[in-house]
Amino acid sequence: MDILIKNCNLISMKENHEKYEPNMDIYIKQGKVYKIGKNLDIKADKEIDASGKICMPGFVNTHTHISMSIFRETLDGYSLQDWLNKKIWPMEDKLTREDIYYASLLSIIEMIETGTTTANDQYFMAEDTIKAANELGMRLQVTRTVNDVAGLTEQRINELEELIKNYNNKYDNITLNIGIHGLYTTGEETVKRLIKMAEREKLPVHMHFCENEKETFDIKNAYNVESATDVLEKYFTRTHNILAHVVKVTDEEIDVLSKMKVNVSHCPVSNLRLGCGVAKVQQMLDKGINVSLGTDGQGSGSNLDMFDTMKFTGLLQKGVFEDSKNMDSYEILKMATTNGAKALKLEQKIGTIEEGKDADIIIINLDSVTCNPVRKCILRFSI
Ligand SMILES: [Zn+2]
Repeated sequence: MDILIKNCNLISMKENHEKYEPNMDIYIKQGKVYKIGKNLDIKADKEIDASGKICMPGFVNTHTHISMSIFRETLDGYSLQDWLNKKIWPMEDKLTREDIYYASLLSIIEMIETGTTTANDQYFMAEDTIKAANELGMRLQVTRTVNDVAGLTEQRINELEELIKNYNNKYDNITLNIGIHGLYTTGEETVKRLIKMAEREKLPVHMHFCENEKETFDIKNAYNVESATDVLEKYFTRTHNILAHVVKVTDEEIDVLSKMKVNVSHCPVSNLRLGCGVAKVQQMLDKGINVSLGTDGQGSGSNLDMFDTMKFTGLLQKGVFEDSKNMDSYEILKMATTNGAKALKLEQKIGTIEEGKDADIIIINLDSVTCNPVRKCILRFSI
C-alpha cells in the first residue's frame, strides 16, 4: 500500500529549511516518506488531495498517563499531593486490565483526532495500553512506573523487568523507558536500582520532577540535599532523562539542568489546574534545554489535545513573564514535534517530514481545524 499526498502546504520542521512550502507532494511507501517534491508523477494505491490543507509531522506528547481518560475532569480544588493520595491512587488500585485496555483506546482515539501520533506514557499494566496502541496504529513509549508507595516496590520493579523482557524491540512503534514516579515518592535505594536498570538496558528515564513547591521541599528533606538537582547530579548523569513539569526550580538549578542536558516535558494545563505554577520555559530554551510538550493525564490536564497545550504554552510565557516576544509560534511547533522526538530518542525516525523517515504525518484542514494522521489512520483503515 502506497500513498500520494498531492498539493499540500508543507511544514516539514526540517532544520535550516523553508518553514513553509506551498503546493508540495509527498509520496509514502511502506509507511515511510519516500519522495517529496512538486508535481510528482507517481501512481499510488491511494491519492489524497490536500489542496488548501497543511501537512506537518504528527505531534509528540512527551508526558501522558493514557489510561486516565476515565478520570477526565472528575476532581477539582485539590493540591497535587491530596489529589494523588486521597483520590487518584485509591481509585487506580481498583483498576483491572480490561479497564486499562478500554481507557487506553479512548485516549488513543482522542490523540489521533487531535493530531498526536506519538505519546510517552507513564502508568502500569502497560501491556494492555500497548495492545490498544497496536490496534489503532499509535506510536508509544511506555513504562511500568515505579515508586515506593504502599510497600510494593519489589513487585513494581519485577513488573518493569518483565515488560522490558517481553516488549523491548518487539514492535517498531513501541519503545520503552524506565519510569520513576518522582523523587518524593521513590527512595534513594530504589532510584539507584532503577538507574542501574536504565544503564543496563540503555533506556531513557522518565520522571516527574519539581511539579510544585511541596514536592521540591519534600525531595530536599528526603534526600537531605540543598537542592533537588543535587540528586540528579548524584545519580542521573549517565542516563538520558525526560523530566515532566520542572516548575519549581531556581535560576541556578536551570543552569544545572542545562549542563546535564536533561529533556523537559512542559505540561502547562495540568500545572494550572493543580495550582502548581508556571514553568520558566523561555528561560530553559534560552539556556539550550530541550523542552517538549505534554498534556499529562486527563485527570489533571483535562484533555490530550496538543493544540490546547501549544496555546497555553505561548500565552503563559508571554503573559506571566511580561514579554510578548517570548515563545515565537514556530518555536512552539518545534516543541510539539522535533523537540519531542529528541526527548524520546526517536529523532532519526520522526519529528520532521523528510525522505527516509517514518510517515507520521498529519493533515490539518484549516476550515475545521481537524486532523487526520495519515500514516496510521488513513493507511490502516483503507487497507
Ligand atoms: Zn504526570
